[in-house]
Amino acid sequence: MLDRSPTQQAAIWLHSFSEALESGNVAAVSALFLEECYWRDLLTFTWNIKTMEGRSAIEAMLSATLARTKPSDWQIAGEATRDGDTVEAWFTFETAVARGEGILRLTDGRCRTILTAMRELKGHEEKRGRRRALGVRHEADPNRETWLEARRREEASLGYSKQPYCVIIGGGQGGIALGARLKQLGVPTIILEKNARAGDSWRKRYRSLVLHDPVWYDHMPYIPFPDNWPVFTPKDKMGDWLEMYAKVMELNYWPSSRCRRASYDSERKEWTVEVDRGDESVVLKPRHLVFATGAYGPPREIELAGTEDFAGEILHSSRYSDGTRFKGKNCVVVGAASSAHDVAVDLWESGAKVTMVQRSPTTVVQSGTLMELAFDIYSEAAIERGITTEIADMKVASMPFALLPETQKPLYDRIRARDADFYEKLAQAGFALDFGPDETGLMMKAYRTGSGYYINVGASDLIIKGEIAVKSGTEIERLTRNTIKFRDGSEIPADAVIACTGYHSMHETVAEIVSREVADRVGPCWGLGSGTPGDPGPWQGELRNMWKPTAQEALWFHGGNLALSRFYSKFVALQLKARMEGIETPVY
Ligand SMILES: Cc1cc2nc3c(=O)[nH]c(=O)nc-3n(C[C@H](O)[C@H](O)[C@H](O)COP(=O)(O)OP(=O)(O)OC[C@H]3O[C@@H](n4cnc5c(N)ncnc54)[C@H](O)[C@@H]3O)c2cc1C
Repeated sequence: MLDRSPTQQAAIWLHSFSEALESGNVAAVSALFLEECYWRDLLTFTWNIKTMEGRSAIEAMLSATLARTKPSDWQIAGEATRDGDTVEAWFTFETAVARGEGILRLTDGRCRTILTAMRELKGHEEKRGRRRALGVRHEADPNRETWLEARRREEASLGYSKQPYCVIIGGGQGGIALGARLKQLGVPTIILEKNARAGDSWRKRYRSLVLHDPVWYDHMPYIPFPDNWPVFTPKDKMGDWLEMYAKVMELNYWPSSRCRRASYDSERKEWTVEVDRGDESVVLKPRHLVFATGAYGPPREIELAGTEDFAGEILHSSRYSDGTRFKGKNCVVVGAASSAHDVAVDLWESGAKVTMVQRSPTTVVQSGTLMELAFDIYSEAAIERGITTEIADMKVASMPFALLPETQKPLYDRIRARDADFYEKLAQAGFALDFGPDETGLMMKAYRTGSGYYINVGASDLIIKGEIAVKSGTEIERLTRNTIKFRDGSEIPADAVIACTGYHSMHETVAEIVSREVADRVGPCWGLGSGTPGDPGPWQGELRNMWKPTAQEALWFHGGNLALSRFYSKFVALQLKARMEGIETPVY
């Protein structure tokens, strides 16, 4: 076998796999996998986002799903590659209702990881490329309705005389990306956004904010950024892009529209969604409700003893936008993750005296180092090697979460060695560093807890220089009229406290809008159940509740950074489209 080319090896394996599946021989399929193996499925077999870990989990999944999935026509796509003892190949296939694609990795002729991902529903393909709409009827028509007239009619009727199939609460990048996917699939959708303009979710953040991730990672679906776009997008520019995007993608986007309440009638299989649209109250009756209300839930407010005595201002970072009024003041930033660092720099640039209070250690990575070592498949060099954003997204998705630590640990060993001098200086400045409980760094922290890290775009340098003071290793005891007292007996002057203490889980927004009972039934969002601090088990193998069916019928969560939102919006949209078309979607 080993004298064969990688493509031949992959083709032989795929042929055996396909035959075993077609004959319904689950044991024979399982025998094609290594003892330690992973099958990640995005909808094709499971109508879920699920990773089966180990042969018995694969067997159980196939026993439950194979007969109705009817997979067929497995074909290797392009040339397979070899890296050490691993052969990697892309493939396409079909099920009874969909077309799919995937990536498999073989070691010694057996499979260690396989990704199967739905590409499109048969008979419901997107109108793109050769299928694109003509945009005109080339014939005389005294009753002609122009594009603008049709668009206005749709805007006037949807939500009033015609109900949307889906309502998305939240018109940030997540709601907008999902709205665009649903529009393409012909699923009538309204996006509710409490802000006055699309893009305000970025505009309203603090003035110095620039995206931390590079442009190649940040594209929205369908309309990539042009190639003169800066590597790091300033927040207001991002806001303008989203506003433009919502308009040209013809989304039914309701600005100044706050979703107040929502309840589900399980008999009628319909939501009642109460909306304050400007001065008007509107009730919508969609079949599905998506929470795209932000990566996190409501702000985690700070509670400090002595607050009633404090003469200064206490505010959460979510309400901080501009440091001008803090010029010359003693400002204390509580927290030491991304927002805390950015707020600290903004305050410093505004002429405030800043102290950062750090309760637990933070993972810090130099932006340049991260770009070079961790974003290599989302870069100009990757594009030159033919790795488009779509290809990179699939490669990332093909790696099961369980295997990420083993790829991240060596990466962070390299990062630490490369920037040893920087880390030493930061530690000397009194800043407590860590690289996660198992030394796997920033990305694992992001997946596990969504907190406790910072990509250094300037704050760490100010800390090293002593321009931003750090108070670490002790807890705040209480506030006095104009100071903060610490448990170690020290005291610092304070005119303002900015709590960069993070947010509650996204499901708390469900408690506010639907009910406590539904929120508790659905449970927290994000986190893998890794059993590391802040990410309690049991192990899930996937991110909790995101982009897939939840414990509440017809309630969905969508969001994440631009990259996650771009990729997974497709799968949320396919799940909703299938339901709208009455396609069976038994969830495994
Ligand atoms: C300093 C910093 C840097 C960041 N850098 C990056 C980066 O480089 N790349 C990246 O991808 N991400 C970055 N992020 C993360 C970014 O916050 C999220 O990726 C992004 O905001 C998530 O988009 P979203 O649409 O899920 O949520 P949001 O942008 O928060 O949008 C949610 C929307 O829901 C609306 N909403 C909430 N409740 C209601 C309601 N009841 N009714 C109507 N509307 C409602 C809100 O007004 C808001 O507009 C950064 C964040 C910070 C703080």
